[in-house]
Amino acid sequence: MSERARVFFACWPSPGLARAIHRQALRLQQSCKGRVMRPDTLHMTLAFLGDVERHRLPELQAVASRVAAVPFRISLTRQGSWHGHRIIWLAPEEVPAPLDLLQTKLCAGLRSAGFQLEGGSYKPHVTVLRNARSAPAEACCGEGLGWAVDAFRLVESQRLPDGASYRTLGEWPL
Ligand code: ATP
Ligand code: MG
Repeated sequence: MSERARVFFACWPSPGLARAIHRQALRLQQSCKGRVMRPDTLHMTLAFLGDVERHRLPELQAVASRVAAVPFRISLTRQGSWHGHRIIWLAPEEVPAPLDLLQTKLCAGLRSAGFQLEGGSYKPHVTVLRNARSAPAEACCGEGLGWAVDAFRLVESQRLPDGASYRTLGEWPL
């Protein structure tokens, strides 16, 4: 095992919601092409740390356990693309206050523990297709996919030629 781990914090959908997101991804793939994310890999990133020395992982877990945040609901109603259509995503129309607070508190805790994070505004999204060829024709994803978010995870990403594989290193309830 390498001495460093590529890690991030994220919210993970239930298996049922992941299947529903995956079905929308398959519909989008018909026109946008690209590679569909496996249902078990679908997630909404809160904070991306990149490579962290493994001996510091308990510090990340300690920060997470101190984050006081409440459960919330979002509805994935929007769909779009970034990076020349290579990434196709679903996203909520608005960032509810509890999600904004969760992300802000988590990032503040990580920074004060000495971890570096990129700045920039937070754009919550679930990547559903990679290496697509065109943007979704519609900006609206049907009636939206409701998501009751009640926990967040610390995840290690192992990047493989056919897509990343993720390993959960901890989960904290909201
Ligand atoms: P791959 O990069 O192999 O195609 P991936 O993007 O899923 O797969 P990672 O690059 O390890 O795997 O990223 C893990 C998660 O963190 C993804 O949700 C990704 O969008 C997000 N992420 C990666 N880099 C950044 C970054 N610089 N800023 C914010 N989020 C990031
Ligand atoms: Mg990536």
